[in-house]
Amino acid sequence: MTAKERRKFGRKVLRHLLDFRLNRSCLYQQEKLARLQNRRRKAFMRRLESSPFYRPYLKGSWEDIPVINKHVFMDQFDAINTCSIKKEEAMEIALESERSRDFSPELHGVAVGLSSGTSGHRGLFLASLDERAKWVAAVLDRAIGIQFRKRKIAFFLRANNNLYESAKSRLLQFDFFDTTIDFDEHILRLSTLQPDIVIGQPSVLIEIAKEVEKGRLEMAPEQIISVAEVLTPEDASYLSGVFKKRIEQVYQCTEGFLAHTCEEGALHFNEDFLIIERKYVDEARRRYHPIITDLFRTTQPVVRYELNDIIQEGPPCSCGRVTTRIKQIEGRADDVFRFTRPNGSEGVIFPDTIRRAVINSTHAIQEYTVRQTAPALVQFSIHSLSGEAGLQVKSALGALFQEAGWQDVTIVQESPSPIKKGEKRRRIKNESI
Ligand SMILES: [Zn+2]
Repeated sequence: MTAKERRKFGRKVLRHLLDFRLNRSCLYQQEKLARLQNRRRKAFMRRLESSPFYRPYLKGSWEDIPVINKHVFMDQFDAINTCSIKKEEAMEIALESERSRDFSPELHGVAVGLSSGTSGHRGLFLASLDERAKWVAAVLDRAIGIQFRKRKIAFFLRANNNLYESAKSRLLQFDFFDTTIDFDEHILRLSTLQPDIVIGQPSVLIEIAKEVEKGRLEMAPEQIISVAEVLTPEDASYLSGVFKKRIEQVYQCTEGFLAHTCEEGALHFNEDFLIIERKYVDEARRRYHPIITDLFRTTQPVVRYELNDIIQEGPPCSCGRVTTRIKQIEGRADDVFRFTRPNGSEGVIFPDTIRRAVINSTHAIQEYTVRQTAPALVQFSIHSLSGEAGLQVKSALGALFQEAGWQDVTIVQESPSPIKKGEKRRRIKNESI
């Protein structure tokens, strides 16, 4: 970015930030929120006329617009985006920028990025200058806050991209830490940098906390923000114990900035610019996949996009916001354990239920994984200080599965395998599908 472009970008961020502040009261009143959402939805629909994929649906009702998933989103890349950008050329640019680790190239003024995710399933995303400015403004408004003094942010990411580079300014200094390289180097850098804010996935934050506990690293950031992976209650309490502050969460993925923690520590969807529909996945209607529409994304519109994440619905929040509260992000639909009961019916066990069974079985566990590796085989590993813990976990899992009606399951303890650098950590996985 040239100096002129940077100034232009700065002005855009300020304008959007002001807009967030002016509309802040809408987050606290249902009627005002609905009016704001409607206004933004109308403007959004007008922009969809430039999307060959969505144009045919604009005359019909909202429900006629197809609900899509990541697969369709990528498959229809050329037809969905409103800038006639071809998938091949975008992919070429994104891959080249990853190889050279030069994250500035753009295509027709649009930043191109690759999401993490398993190889072969990597998402490709586009963001215009204005969309990036909106993203920065939203993160400033909701997560980082504004203070008129310079603050240093240590940002741990698998790979850098234009979206995050954008947040550099006179008041915020973003320092990027590549999670794919050696951790010892990061400890040295953190110690020199003394960041005011640390942003990273829980598994990275835990590694940092361990170094602080061991006395190998001294730092006292004022804010710790967890991103990208599920933050379990026990990890949150460990981290806040070490850093002596509440851990904030940003629920963010390629599909946008979805939710953030309020001053009460609860996660709220950004419903002033997101439309959230629910696809319930359990009979009690407490868990759902969010179907999101991001009213701020028009270069590569995100419309009725079903996420794979399982959300547990929370009660209204005492902070007064009327936006939907998330009790917990439970994991992904792929990680639900599935089995067949003796009578032929299908049974499911949610990752959160398995997590609770494991952590409640013993106090001696430091780390664990539970994997369904075949239709009737579950393998688990633990790091523990106690020799008994393996048996306790095995018996807790056995009891849970029996209760659910899973009778033919074999449970095997395996030795823990090291986590690959830069990989997202998933403690509970279904690898049998
Ligand atoms: Zn709240």
